[in-house]
Amino acid sequence: MNLLPAAFATALSLLATTTRADVPAVVTDIALVQSLAQTVLGELGHADVLLPPGADAHSYQLRPSQGASLQRADLVFWVGDALTPWLGRTLAGAGLKGKSVPLLDAPETYLHAFGAETAHDHAEAEAEPETGHDHAGADPHAWLDPANAQAWLALIAAELAAADPANAAAYVANADAGRARIAALDATLRAKLAPLADRPFVVFHDAYGYFADHYGLAVAGALHRGDASAPGAAHLAELRADLAAGGIICAFPEVSHDPKLLALTLEGTPVRTGAVLDPTGGTLPQGAGLYEALMADLAAKLSDCLAPR
Ligand SMILES: [Zn+2]
Repeated sequence: MNLLPAAFATALSLLATTTRADVPAVVTDIALVQSLAQTVLGELGHADVLLPPGADAHSYQLRPSQGASLQRADLVFWVGDALTPWLGRTLAGAGLKGKSVPLLDAPETYLHAFGAETAHDHAEAEAEPETGHDHAGADPHAWLDPANAQAWLALIAAELAAADPANAAAYVANADAGRARIAALDATLRAKLAPLADRPFVVFHDAYGYFADHYGLAVAGALHRGDASAPGAAHLAELRADLAAGGIICAFPEVSHDPKLLALTLEGTPVRTGAVLDPTGGTLPQGAGLYEALMADLAAKLSDCLAPR
């Protein structure tokens, strides 16, 4: 007699529960991965992001409250240890209940190495203490190739669908729509950037190899290495000689980094200073649209300085 109403009440409460209750708790490393995860989640849920606006992706320190948020996560989408060793250490150390999904490990991700000169610089960096990760491998800034962002949307959708089969169709449809938007933007950017081939430029840190490869641009050097660590005197002298020699059109500072050293390096050279680049999208409005905004922003800033006048 008591059993039936109890079972009935349980059934009623299950009916009242929308599929939303089963949407996984998603935590991401940086704003652009949050953007891709949010694209896939759509209206079903919200992806959290660990790196605060304007903080450096390579050298951040997690706060204790963020450790707690990681513990609650069902899925952690992040670029990988080569970009954010601080997160790699935490994920390896803590007993994470959820699943860690490093996007660089996605089978469809196209990876390339840093430039030869930078790879040499990295070998020096690895002798330093506290640099516990391998920088000699692939350049982690892989999202700046739109084909990788498209592959990552598909992987995020597959992981969400596996964790929450009731909403699988929505995740896949959201990812497909996102991939189509990126494809359209890619075509627009390709046309916009085509006139900039053979217009060499220098960047603040070695993060733009994928973007340059994909759009046929000419990165002539970087002030800092790919992990944004401080440049050595020999590297600075070499870069300054290249800048003074002529032929390099622009140099671009970067968000959350003091522009003084770059300005000093450019002093007395014919090189123009471009707008401040934001390769991780940390200063852009967060949400599903951020990835496309990031790519459009980079293209606009490069074009504004480099276009033939
Ligand atoms: Zn970087």
